[in-house]
Amino acid sequence: MLETLRAAVVRCAQAAEAEGLCRWRSGNFSALDEDSGLICVTPSGVERRTMTPADVVVMDRDARVVEAAEGRKPSSEALMHIAAYEARPDIRAVVHTHSPFALVFAALERPIPGLVLEAAHLRCEGGTIPVAPFAPQGTNALADSVREPLRTGDALLLARHGALAVGASPEDALLKAAYIEELAAVAFRAAAMAGEEGVSPLPPEAFALHYPDQIKMK
Ligand code: 13P
Ligand code: ZN
Repeated sequence: MLETLRAAVVRCAQAAEAEGLCRWRSGNFSALDEDSGLICVTPSGVERRTMTPADVVVMDRDARVVEAAEGRKPSSEALMHIAAYEARPDIRAVVHTHSPFALVFAALERPIPGLVLEAAHLRCEGGTIPVAPFAPQGTNALADSVREPLRTGDALLLARHGALAVGASPEDALLKAAYIEELAAVAFRAAAMAGEEGVSPLPPEAFALHYPDQIKMK
């Protein structure tokens, strides 16, 4: 079932690996089927290089497995993916990575300041990617920690762990995961060059340029 969506999830997962957004067994990916309300999620502990659509697990919103190949379990972060869909009924895909520069900010539990225009695509308050408080992998507490930040933006860091992006499709969520990493790399390098006091976030007007429909016409 849901062959097309399963294939899209694997393409997204493998593209994330190819782009250096996650390595080995870190990270997980899902997409929501609007008609059935079911979620296609990457299996736990399976390397993306060898992953095929048949490995993708179909689960419902109570984390009950609806279809899975033998030996395949949903990602250990299944509850976090479900929490993201609950918090944001408008989204259709979730991407969780451990991308390298974002991981530095996550390790320090520091938000990523939006220094360049890519920040506008993530729609986080003030352009800054927030950090959800630490909770251990695979727990209800970790799932719950993403709800609040997702109410105000499409991206966040998981303290001491990684990054999370949501979107209208697997491609959209992946693009946002790539922007998280780009913003983290820029912020890291800018602070290295100018010192932390030398960097300043984009002014709010900068974001309006990306969303001309928000500009009030006379
Ligand atoms: P899974 O292989 O279970 O998805 O775990 C990877 C991960 O990143 C956990 O946070
Ligand atoms: Zn993780």
